[in-house]
Amino acid sequence: MMVSLAERLHEVEQRLRSAERAAGRVSGCVKLLAVSKTKSAEAMILAYRAGQRHFGESYLQEALVKQRQLAHFNITWHFIGPIQSNKTRSIVNHFSWVHSVDRLKIARRLDEQRSPDSAPLNICLQINVSGEMSKSGVPIDELPEFAAAVSELPRLRLRGIMAIPAQTTGFDNQRAAFRALRMAMEQLPYKTLDTLSMGMSNDLEAAVAEGATIVRIGTAIFGSRR
Ligand SMILES: *Cc1c(COP(=O)(O)O)cnc(C)c1O
Repeated sequence: MMVSLAERLHEVEQRLRSAERAAGRVSGCVKLLAVSKTKSAEAMILAYRAGQRHFGESYLQEALVKQRQLAHFNITWHFIGPIQSNKTRSIVNHFSWVHSVDRLKIARRLDEQRSPDSAPLNICLQINVSGEMSKSGVPIDELPEFAAAVSELPRLRLRGIMAIPAQTTGFDNQRAAFRALRMAMEQLPYKTLDTLSMGMSNDLEAAVAEGATIVRIGTAIFGSRR
């Protein structure tokens, strides 16, 4: 039997609501970011018609094409992929959120290039929480210094931190990495901090148990990527 995209989206929303309930958190407090990288504008429209408004993209060129196709939809765009310094100008002009800031040089460019006519760019600092193979993310022990420098940049609004922990199985193992992230953010003194961007298709329950405020879900909504 074919399960429609709207049904899969609904199932993810149900998973989120039960994870919130299990954690004793307010129903609806965790925001669902639909990760649409490699997926068509048509698939995104199906999710949109089912009520989804926040979408996450990892590849700039692909995202810009879909933004043109979807210009008349009321979508909030989040950039979640690796950032090359020659792409920052396009990123600041086409996204409301950037989750993957992991170098001060990139943060400074985003700050300089954000138009004074736009609201400050919402950003999360990407943390390399489990020493994953991918080189993205600052080590957790460098977070305080990095956050201090970024918090000085006026065109950026430092909302929180993001991470992609190494894939593990077992709720408790998954929780350990998310707990480390939560505790790292709790050490920071900035009053703009309200976002823990953590949890994907395979571990959203553990992330919600540790205080995630945004989960980034691709596969469970749109199906696997080739
Ligand atoms: C691809 C991606 C996701 C979504 O992962 P799924 O396992 O498909 O849910 C989330 N966050 C980031 C940063 C990604 O690149």
